[in-house]
This record gives sequence, C-alpha cells and structure tokens, in this order.
Amino acid sequence: MSESRLRFAPSPTGNLHIGTLRTALFNWIYAKAIGATLVLRIEDTDLARSQAEFETNIVQGLDWLGLTMDEGPFQGGELGPYRQTERNQLGFYKAHADRLLQLGHAYHCFCTEADLDQERAAAESDKRPYVYSGRCKALTSSDVQEKMAAQIPFTVKFSIPTGPAVRVKDVIRGDIDFDRSLIGDFVLVKSDQTPSYNFAVVVDDGMMGITDVVRGEDHISNTPKQILLFEALGYMVPKFAHLPMILGPDKSKLSKRHGATGVTEYQAQGFLADALFNYLVLLGWSSADGKELMTRDEIISRFTLERVSKSGAVFDVTKLRWMNGQYIRRQTPDELLNHVMPYLSDRVRLALDALGSDRFRSAIYSIRDNLDVLTDCNSFLEVYAMEPTSFIAQVQAYGFGETDRTVISSFRAHIVGVTDWTVASIEAAISTVVTETGLGKGKVFKPIRIATSGQPSGPHLAELIWILGQSVVVQRMAEVVGLLDQKI
Ligand code: GLU
Repeated sequence: MSESRLRFAPSPTGNLHIGTLRTALFNWIYAKAIGATLVLRIEDTDLARSQAEFETNIVQGLDWLGLTMDEGPFQGGELGPYRQTERNQLGFYKAHADRLLQLGHAYHCFCTEADLDQERAAAESDKRPYVYSGRCKALTSSDVQEKMAAQIPFTVKFSIPTGPAVRVKDVIRGDIDFDRSLIGDFVLVKSDQTPSYNFAVVVDDGMMGITDVVRGEDHISNTPKQILLFEALGYMVPKFAHLPMILGPDKSKLSKRHGATGVTEYQAQGFLADALFNYLVLLGWSSADGKELMTRDEIISRFTLERVSKSGAVFDVTKLRWMNGQYIRRQTPDELLNHVMPYLSDRVRLALDALGSDRFRSAIYSIRDNLDVLTDCNSFLEVYAMEPTSFIAQVQAYGFGETDRTVISSFRAHIVGVTDWTVASIEAAISTVVTETGLGKGKVFKPIRIATSGQPSGPHLAELIWILGQSVVVQRMAEVVGLLDQKI
C-alpha cells in the first residue's frame, strides 16, 4: 500500500469538543493537501464510558463542519469494521496478542491490584520512578496453565525489549527520545479480555495501513509504547505529528471552566461552520503569507505540518466571534436567509412574514453588519416587529435639537414624493440632505435612523427604510417632527 492513509480515531466517551474537532480538522486538511485517504475509526473499547449517543454527536459535528471521511462505520471500506468493539468480536486483538505471546514479546500477568500497589509503594519509598517489575515474565508455561485452570484473573502484558532509547520522530516537534527502561511492561489485554488503548490503536493502525498519525499532544507519552508494538508486530511505523494543546485565556488546558467546549454549543450559539473551520485551523497553524481569512481551498493549498506550532494555542472566543461576523458579511442574501431561519423567534418571524418574501429576505440581509453570531438576529430584527407606541416612547427618550428637526423634516420632504421606492432612491435622498444641510454624515444618519426605528444603531439604514415602506416612514418622520414642534 503506497498511498498515504490517515485516521481520525475518537473515543465516544463524551460529546465532540473543540479539541477533538481540531484534531479531525487537521487530519482532514492534511489528507486533502497530500491526497491521502482519511479513515474514521470509533475507539469504543472502554465499554463503561462509551455511548452510542456520543458517537452520534461526534459524527453529526463532523458532518456539520463538512469533514467528510473516506472510510468508516458509515462510509464502509475494505479494511473494516471501523468500530473497535466490532473488531474485538472478530478476534483481531486476540490474534495479535497470541502472536506476541508466541514470539515471546508478551506474557500472562497474574499480579493483583494489591501486588502492584505494593510494588508502587516500595518504589515510592525508595524514591525511584515506578515501573512494573515484570515478575510474571518468569512464570513457566505450566505455572501459567495452573493459574488459568484455577481461574485466576490475568492480563496480557507487553515485554519491553531491551535496547537504546526509543526515538519518536515527530514531524512537528522533531526527535524525542524515551528511555525504555522507564516505560515498563504494559497491559495489552485487560482482565476482562478487552484490548488496552495502546494495543488496539497499534493493531488497528497496522491492519488499516495508516501511514501518518496526526493527534493531540496528550498522546506523546503513548507513542514510544506504540512504536515498540509496531516493531514487535512487524508493522510499518507511521509518521507522527502531535498537535499543540488548546489552552484557555489563562493558558491552562481548555476546559468547561473556560466556557463552552462542546461543538453542538457553538452551533446552537449561531456560529457558521465555515467560520469555525477557519478559526480552528489557526489554533496551532498559520499560513506562511500571514493570511487569516481563507476559504477551504486556500487553506488546503497552504497547509503543511511543518508550519504547525509546538506551543499551545489559546482559544480566543472574541476572535472567533469577530471571524464569524466576517463570514456572515460575506453571505449572499439567500445564504444568510438559510442560516438565520432556524434562529428566528416566533414573534420576529411572524412580523417578517407580514412583509412578504422579498422584504423578508431583505430584512435578514439588512442586519448582516450587526451580527457576530446568528443568535443575535432577533434583537436586531426587532425593529421590524415594533409596536408604533413603543417607537414613539423610544424617540421621546432622545434629546433631539433644532438641527435634528431640520434633518428629519428635510428627509421627509425628499422621500414623500419619490415614485420609485428603491434602496438607491432612499440613499440619494439621504445624500441630498447631507449636501443641503452641510452637516456631516453622522449628524444626518443618526436622527433619521432614530426617527425611523427608535434605535441609535441597527440595520443598514436605506434598506431598513425601504423595507418599512414609504408610507410608514413618511408618517413616522411627520410624527417625530410634530413631537419636536411641541417641544422646541
Ligand atoms: N481514541 C483516542 C482519543 O480519543 C485517540 C487515539 C489516537 O489518535 O491515537 O483520544
């Protein structure tokens, strides 16, 4: 198999979180960049913690971000099945454990937890790092048979071969050497006969022909164990790349304490998948030309693992919100409509329905510059659902002066006779007021906006006025002028 093969191997022990999604994303981008096949493997051997609903949540999150997999439990493929529990049922891990036992690379261990605790305590009092003594290695085959016949629980342990330091050649971090005498013989098959994480990963990566492993930095200490296992089993050792940790603003590992970490929560808060995609790729990677806002194709064409940073990447929600806003502003009216629809409150939706479908879409588009996240849409669309009485109350709260009165009454005069009611003709009327009064744009826009909507900021002004309609706006201007005449 000469092609490159990558894998994303989540454990369904919780909902998809930002860190795991970032690992999936880097695998996906790297696979596209080098033309590799990407495999989804579900690592569900931890029966107590794995749940089908977590697998569903993970798969839905990947789908939402468009991280398509080439092989996996749903995609199929020749090297499946792609769930470890199914692979276990087929005896894949047992067969590999038997091979290691036959080759003398593994042995049965009958030590109890209490035995191991005793060894650990002794190491502690001698102030030396604890590694398992390997005493069960000395058992003869008749000892082993006897204990098995007596139904004493056992594990299968890997016997670390003697030799020089184990070198992890990490594409991102360079060479890291691990003293193998400090690794200690470790469990391959647990006493319930399920494979350990390190064992299952190597059997699967080996059988699935994985050439490149891209995963989180938290797995670095597992890598020397896995390299020794690949070698003992006669599998090619893949290339490794360990991605830097994602940190919270206080530089500690990102956790719930820092706010939302679940991908579903970001979706619910109204982040766009493309924006999250773009933001996450910048967590630990940067483009050589310094570009930050990039399409997926631009990212893929620039991506190399060599440009991934070694140091932790801070997850900055403010920047993510800013980036999301940038993506929102780049949407076409129809794209924005589709994205906003699920977030509309019933009240706002009813009000927009009354405007007819063209104005409905324009109303959504008119708030593109106001939004950082889609969930903000209702407060900005409120101007289209406002009761006339609340509008007057809000206008009265502003301290309009003589100049504002001139602006509003001049604007009214310019729009009252407009025969082609378009955004362009409204913009032209506003410009005329600017010219005629000689006032700065801000001094003209603000009173017009407040007299129109009761708000000092909000949707694109000419679009707002167009959507509300000529008669409504002319009448509001007249009402406001009337109010001011009573006051001034
Ligand atoms: N299943 C492991 C995890 O979710 C990943 C294993 C790996 O990438 O080697 O952390």
